[in-house]
Amino acid sequence: MRAMVLKQIVSLAKTNTPLELVELPIPVPGPGELLVKVSVCGVCHTELDEIEGRIVPPKLPIVLGHEIAGRVHQLGEKSSRFQLGDRVGVGWVHSSTGQPDENLSPEFRATGRDVNGGYAEYMTVSENYAYPIPEIFSDVDAAPLLCAGGIGYRALRLTRIRNGDLLGLTGFGASAHLVLQLAKHLFPESRLYVFARDPDQQQFARELGAEWAGATDATPPEKLHAIIDSTPAWKPVVEALRNLRPGGRLVINAIRKEDTDKARLQDLTYHEHLWSEKEIKSVANITHFDLAEFLPIAGKIPLKPEVRVLPLEQANQALTEIRHGGARGARVLRVSVD
Ligand SMILES: [Zn+2]
Repeated sequence: MRAMVLKQIVSLAKTNTPLELVELPIPVPGPGELLVKVSVCGVCHTELDEIEGRIVPPKLPIVLGHEIAGRVHQLGEKSSRFQLGDRVGVGWVHSSTGQPDENLSPEFRATGRDVNGGYAEYMTVSENYAYPIPEIFSDVDAAPLLCAGGIGYRALRLTRIRNGDLLGLTGFGASAHLVLQLAKHLFPESRLYVFARDPDQQQFARELGAEWAGATDATPPEKLHAIIDSTPAWKPVVEALRNLRPGGRLVINAIRKEDTDKARLQDLTYHEHLWSEKEIKSVANITHFDLAEFLPIAGKIPLKPEVRVLPLEQANQALTEIRHGGARGARVLRVSVD
């Protein structure tokens, strides 16, 4: 099968072709597993963290990719949840304890980090970590829901906002443009404020119904109850803390932060950014409960992901576009056509 693999950790400042197209044998599903024929796989910022070694895959080479939509191609022994040909999605959690806090467990195994993921024609996964995809979504539209959407849903819950509270989103990429639509549905009386460095992303946020959109360091007309940060940088953290009202909560929806602008943390002052019982909460991974709960909600709204599709062989191009940011919505790789 065709696969785009990561053979070694590299700096993306030095190469823009970190992945290589290779032929691999089709994997064999074990007991309780499915062999999934991958239709599409979304491209996530976490892939950049893996390529540059901020999250190190335990062994190389590895097939990246954890926003997978495909069809059940073969059933492993004792697999009974799905039928051949069923459409399924797979996200970042490849297996864990099955408990509500499985995302925090040392047993957590990630798709496309600990086991081969979806930048390939086939992949295997436990049937307990595959999810039916609501019919309303095409494969392409479903892909970004499996990480960007699902982890955004978890981040939104962790804000603990109530209907009518004021919510901010700093960074407006694949995840935030879905969270905005989700928040409008779940909290219809809440006003939404978006901080994005790129004017086109600010405009996109207004089109999707943001009350206000401005630059990362802009001051919104009101202080906010909660802000979700989905950027890899530190400046948005400092600015978000400044824009919270007393008792407000910042939720950082990122697996790793980059060090590029870490010096901005020196701008933190206790009285302006932290005092008044402000809180910071990070989001760590995703559970299968999050995805099983989120996908039907996404189908009911229905969420409308903004997607640019590229062929599997152009995975390096898709990664470069994500790295430079500023683009609307998500990137999805077309792996195979039925
Ligand atoms: Zn992801």
